[in-house]
Amino acid sequence: MTTAKASVLEQFKAPLALRNYEVPSRPEPGAILVRTEMAGICGTDVHLWKGELTIALPVILGHETVGRIEALGDGIERDWSDQPLQVGDRVTWSPGLTCGVCFYCAEKRIPTRCVNRRAYGISQPCNHAPHFLGGYAEFHYLKPRSTIFKLPDDLRTESVIGAGCALNTALHGVERTGIGLRDIVVVQGAGPVGIAALAVAKSAGASQVIVIGAPKHRLEMAERFGADHVIDIDQVRTPAERIAAIRDFTRGYGADVVLECVGMPPAVVEGMEMCRDGGKYLVLGHYCDAGTVAWNPHIVTRKQLSVFGSWSSEPRHMKMAVDFLRATPNQFPFAEMVSHRFSLEQTNEALATSASGEATKSAIVPTLRWD
Ligand SMILES: [Zn+2]
Ligand SMILES: [Zn+2]
Repeated sequence: MTTAKASVLEQFKAPLALRNYEVPSRPEPGAILVRTEMAGICGTDVHLWKGELTIALPVILGHETVGRIEALGDGIERDWSDQPLQVGDRVTWSPGLTCGVCFYCAEKRIPTRCVNRRAYGISQPCNHAPHFLGGYAEFHYLKPRSTIFKLPDDLRTESVIGAGCALNTALHGVERTGIGLRDIVVVQGAGPVGIAALAVAKSAGASQVIVIGAPKHRLEMAERFGADHVIDIDQVRTPAERIAAIRDFTRGYGADVVLECVGMPPAVVEGMEMCRDGGKYLVLGHYCDAGTVAWNPHIVTRKQLSVFGSWSSEPRHMKMAVDFLRATPNQFPFAEMVSHRFSLEQTNEALATSASGEATKSAIVPTLRWD
């Protein structure tokens, strides 16, 4: 019997435990066994660890993963975009598994809201075989109907992990909102989603992108990604001052589009004030329920705002992300986002660097051991 290690969330807010599970000897038809090369730590993992989303435990966290194919089940020969697959190929995959037949999948065509949706590293408990259903482990099992993408040789693993699910999320959110040519865009938040939203907004034709956030190293990264202006919330401390700063950049009118990538409710109230009349506002950062906030709906009517929401991403956004990363490695250096690397034994330390904001992006690089 071959076993391999996984870092497991068994109890919310408690340290993850290193466990050994049996590696499936042969994937079932349509499934793939992957040897994990690198797994990104997403901000969502910190929220999951704290118990801020209702999920069943135990679970192997990690929904941003790159690995090499170890074994292919019968009948799976091609990836989602019709590339041939072989043992040894480097791949990534969408975390979400959808049913394809429910009301939202089939009739309304919004698979992100599939009523049977399960996500690797989030809602796939690991106490039963095939166990390896999250990224913080030496292996990852990809069930039949997973959406898998073979990575081209000229696309670095660090680019894929540095972009993480943030780029897919930003592509989906900006697509839903729409950015017009020469629009002035404000991005609230300089974490991975904010940086990705900046990159997507630039590519979508924005004339100026203004990023609001902290700490300093994240704003410097925003500048590396082409932010035209940054506003440091540690320096410009009140919403009124920040709204005034945006007015100064926009001839007094406000921005055409404001993208919320913060996840804190007061940011939404502030961000809507930053929109020009007839502008657009996207609530992208509230993947977890961060509570309520007092808010006056008059602003939506008076300003004729269009307000959008966007949840996670579809497989086609991951395809877009792979193409995007491959086309723009110098303009948008996502590989440089990976600031900290940890072994599987150091997963708790890795989570702490993400929780504190010390890391731009942390990643787990499992070291293999056979028992
Ligand atoms: Zn994520
Ligand atoms: Zn469905």
